[in-house]
Amino acid sequence: MAKLRILVVDDIYANRFLLSELIKLTGNEILLAENGEEALSILRQETIHLVFMDIEMPVMNGLETTRYIRNEMPSPLNVLPVIAVTAHNPEMFFQDFADVGFDELITKPYSAEKIRDVISKIIP
Ligand SMILES: [Mg+2]
Repeated sequence: MAKLRILVVDDIYANRFLLSELIKLTGNEILLAENGEEALSILRQETIHLVFMDIEMPVMNGLETTRYIRNEMPSPLNVLPVIAVTAHNPEMFFQDFADVGFDELITKPYSAEKIRDVISKIIP
């Protein structure tokens, strides 16, 4: 598999660090953002193949950001794969992650295997 450029969006430093270490184990490249606004500006400037998106963030949360990507960004960015990431019960935020535009959802605890599985599910 060719190296992917993966954007990790999370407001908590420890979460960004943990996720990016696990993604590094899959042999892919990582870019980081602290909130949705920062993520959108990176998406406008860099080639990104996949996003891990935290749901709860200040400034612009993961739901708002994913909706923006789906509805406002030009093709092919509007169909960029976005994986929702949360430590909480996702039913606090939505019934079905697909309804809000996410391709997949992962919950804590994360593991290298879980990360590898979700990446290869989206980009075989
Ligand atoms: Mg958060």
